Amino acid sequence: MVRKTLIAGNWKMNGLLDDGIALAKGVGAEFKKTGRRDCEVLVCPPFTLLTSVKKAIKGTRVQLGAQDCHFESKGAHTGDVSPVMLKDLGCQYVIVGHSERRTNHGESNELISKKAAAAIEAGLKVIICIGETEQERDAGKTIDVCTKQIMGSVPQNATDKNTVIAYEPVWAIGTGKTPTTKDVEDVHAAIRKVLAKKCGRAVANKMRILYGGSMKPTNAKELLALPDVDGGLIGGASLKVADFAAIIEASK
Ligand code: PEP
Repeated sequence: MVRKTLIAGNWKMNGLLDDGIALAKGVGAEFKKTGRRDCEVLVCPPFTLLTSVKKAIKGTRVQLGAQDCHFESKGAHTGDVSPVMLKDLGCQYVIVGHSERRTNHGESNELISKKAAAAIEAGLKVIICIGETEQERDAGKTIDVCTKQIMGSVPQNATDKNTVIAYEPVWAIGTGKTPTTKDVEDVHAAIRKVLAKKCGRAVANKMRILYGGSMKPTNAKELLALPDVDGGLIGGASLKVADFAAIIEASK
């Protein structure tokens, strides 16, 4: 089963014009140098940088993604950005359901499913984030929580071609803590079983499941080598060209 590795950088609310462009150019140059075609590289800058980053990565095969979208195509939604707009601007991907949106903006599985469905409809690929809190993990509820999130936030039109799942334990995001490699593999394998129920076995076997949460050059190789880990969603370490390039290298 060949699932093409995806290394995705989530810049979050970071980057002004000059440093954002420099970061994008650096990532583009590093990835171009590798000449690799066995993996996809994606950067997801804030909305304000999408146009400039698009220019900066031109000709490098680095792809462009946004960090969120609305579920409507247009209308009276002050401050929101629609998937149709993101597609129009040149994005290939959009992240939905990141834990920071679930927590800080009260996003429900139902809302995330609507966003993902609309993004797919607009011709974007979606990265749907799931993951348990520390409290849920300590209570032994990791698989239950991920199951509910998948069943509730993966839309009906999801296929392996338009949807990627990112398993991001909330307690591992930006903390420097990571689960053991056994825990990561066990959860990813369990997620794939739930995806089989949701989307059918054939689709589930081809759908990529990324790991996210304090992935860095020093732990990337062992995490990315796990059989059910098909890439990484990287926050902090995607903000430094050398670190992000080292993670891409570790995916070989
Ligand atoms: C993230 O926010 O998606 C993430 C994985 O962050 P970090 O790599 O900083 O833990």
